Amino acid sequence: MLDSKNLNKFIAAIAKQARVRGPVADASGVILSDITPRSSVILTYANFKLPFKREFFPQCEVISRYDGAAVKEESSDNNVVVYFGIRPCDAQSIAMLDKVFVDDKYADPYFQKRRNNALIISLACNEPAATCFCESTGGGPASKSGSDVIAYSLKQSLLFEPVSKKGEDFIKKNAKLFRAPAQKELQEREKLVSVTSSKTHAVKIDGSRAALAKKTDSSFWDNIAETCLGCGACTFLCPTCHCFDLFDEKLGDGSARLRLHDACMFASFVKEASGHNPRNKKGERMRQRVMHKFSYAPENFNAVFCVGCGRCISACPSNIDIRETLAGVIA
Ligand code: SF4
Ligand code: SF4
Repeated sequence: MLDSKNLNKFIAAIAKQARVRGPVADASGVILSDITPRSSVILTYANFKLPFKREFFPQCEVISRYDGAAVKEESSDNNVVVYFGIRPCDAQSIAMLDKVFVDDKYADPYFQKRRNNALIISLACNEPAATCFCESTGGGPASKSGSDVIAYSLKQSLLFEPVSKKGEDFIKKNAKLFRAPAQKELQEREKLVSVTSSKTHAVKIDGSRAALAKKTDSSFWDNIAETCLGCGACTFLCPTCHCFDLFDEKLGDGSARLRLHDACMFASFVKEASGHNPRNKKGERMRQRVMHKFSYAPENFNAVFCVGCGRCISACPSNIDIRETLAGVIA
């Protein structure tokens, strides 16, 4: 246990061991930023606007540089980073991305390195947003998946519970910072978990894979995608989407090879050099996005690639709601 009034002392102690990042407010809302003992860390927020995956899989990164004579791989730093206050859905998304970037046949060294150097302290939710449906996707406001330590924000204290071996080692190493929980604090935690979980919104996911296989009628997808602007906000903000493209950019006398996020909702995503586009219609792209999360990912990785964070719902300028899409698929 850590008394809430000692949070800054905790951050000061951790900052001596590692770079620390956590939730602070800026003009756009609550963001994940470097924090120091003087930072005003926010514990009451629904979630970051931008998904946590960007810490390990940035929207744009330089892979290598060519200086006119030789190609050099870009070196990344080896700093250990402690992430504090990551919401459980974002932590769960990292466990899913591990399946793609770490455990799959072609591991991604860029993701892997940052992931290995990170310790994730998630923060159980107290007040889910109206768009949260994490309970339906195998997670929940106190889900531990992907976390090394989970913290619960109680009335006057924070309860820290190790989840992984890395988390256990962290708690042991910093044992002096914590005290044992009182019985009433444990009860407070139980009450918090059950009340918060009752506030998330249930969506039927079971059976979506089988139902999707039968949903080949293009008019169903055309209707859903009718108002889609193709802006890609849903995919760019999704904590589990992981498509990227590689580009070479001229840079002075040389060039740089860049990796950038890509989005299957863009009209040019699979456009071929001949000009032929296998997914020329918006409905075809919408179907691809939903199939990837609820059919191909379960087939390949045994998990739906949606953590129910609701970002695609709150960010879509056309009010397209993946919960309604799924309900339509299963109906
Ligand atoms: S956010 Fe909405 S409008 Fe933009 S691509 Fe996604 S579904 Fe289409
Ligand atoms: S599909 Fe939507 S609700 Fe599901 S994880 Fe992605 S952004 Fe969140």
